Amino acid sequence: MRALFAGVGEAVDERLPNTSILLEEDGAHLLLDCGFTAAHTLFAAAPGVEDALAGVWISHFHGDHWFGLPALLARLSVAGRAAPLALAGLPGIGEKVRSLVPMAYRTLLDRLPFPLLFHEAAPGADTAIGPFSLACAPSGHPAPALAVRVTAPSGASCFYSGDGRPTPESLALARGAGLAAHEAFCVEGEMEGHGSVASACAFAREARVRALALVHVRREERHARAAELRAALLRFSRETGIRAFLPEPGEACEVTP
Ligand SMILES: [Zn+2]
Repeated sequence: MRALFAGVGEAVDERLPNTSILLEEDGAHLLLDCGFTAAHTLFAAAPGVEDALAGVWISHFHGDHWFGLPALLARLSVAGRAAPLALAGLPGIGEKVRSLVPMAYRTLLDRLPFPLLFHEAAPGADTAIGPFSLACAPSGHPAPALAVRVTAPSGASCFYSGDGRPTPESLALARGAGLAAHEAFCVEGEMEGHGSVASACAFAREARVRALALVHVRREERHARAAELRAALLRFSRETGIRAFLPEPGEACEVTP
């Protein structure tokens, strides 16, 4: 499985698009989150995605994680897509999407040339989108939010925290994953409702994942201290054998079973 970081930024970063990850195996694609600034970056990074996308996972209903949906649906629509598109996330996702999209384009949902299939996700109940299997767990965020683990037919699996601090449930979910993409909003110290560089590294070590990508880092530190962060992650990698990195938009990595 291949993971393409279409975006890696936090909510209001002026340089880095909102965190959004495109997973691909054998031509099937699944998008993890689609925020304010994610859709256009995705179109640039993944030509042909209009037809190839099986579905979108929405970790929670903050704008930097799902307000790119109207643009995504508009692009898929004008591209003439016919295959159903799955949208998976917290219970109520159908109503949420049916209220958001008409605010951007009043009649778009009525004119879509393809059906939307809504999947309400719940911890303990797996759901399938195309060839991918998805399991989820609550993360520690002020709004209800889910971390997800996506497993491809090859057995390769990717964990994505969405927003929020690690929880015992998200740790159990990530165990042994080929890649964990964890939010690390805080570079120094900790805060309520968000992950940190330190907690994401501890999480990766405890969950025994093979690779760790830090995303959604607070913009001031992400811009000013990227080199320092990369040096720290390199030391962590040498110490633990976990490949830890700070992806750039457009960067891809292989996730092995
Ligand atoms: Zn959030």
